[in-house]
Amino acid sequence: MRIGVLAVQGAFAEHINKLRQLDTESFEIRQQNDIRKNFDGLILPGGESTAMSKLLTELKLLEPLKSMIQGGMPVFGTCAGMILLAKEISGCDSPCFGTLDITAKRNAYGRQLGSFRCTDRFAEKIIEMPFIRAPYAERVGENVTILASHENRIVAVRQDNQLATSFHPELTDDITIYKYFFEMIENRN
Ligand code: GLN
Repeated sequence: MRIGVLAVQGAFAEHINKLRQLDTESFEIRQQNDIRKNFDGLILPGGESTAMSKLLTELKLLEPLKSMIQGGMPVFGTCAGMILLAKEISGCDSPCFGTLDITAKRNAYGRQLGSFRCTDRFAEKIIEMPFIRAPYAERVGENVTILASHENRIVAVRQDNQLATSFHPELTDDITIYKYFFEMIENRN
């Protein structure tokens, strides 16, 4: 299994380290040439969604990656990555990929006090969840499964081959979410 990690901005190195610890091959996606390689899954990291969105357009990565996602490429977006996937972003007219039927609220926990760690349930397991100026899903479409909520806010969702979390599993020792994503890739239809 080989995973491409979008590496134009933000916390991509943390995902790559984590994948290395899990003995999973990965590579950085920085330009169009990179996505000519074969890969089985895509990770969109945390960072600044507006900057990433702009860079994706400038680097002409937006449309080809969007087509891959629409074609069923398994994708996992963390934090800003969730915003990139969202069909709607509260208070903003222009989604990025817009493939995941949720409305994402950016900086939803407030700008200053928006970073915290907690534990909560993800698919029957209690895991650590670090939030950093995180979004959550204000609305989910009927084809979207809610995988985790924290204090009644939706923080992990799945729609077909798309997985998104508001929090950063790459900043914890827990591997539950990566295992979940690997299973999505292995069972891809
Ligand atoms: N607040 C950031 C954004 O809106 C996301 C923060 C993060 O990815 N840790 O893009």
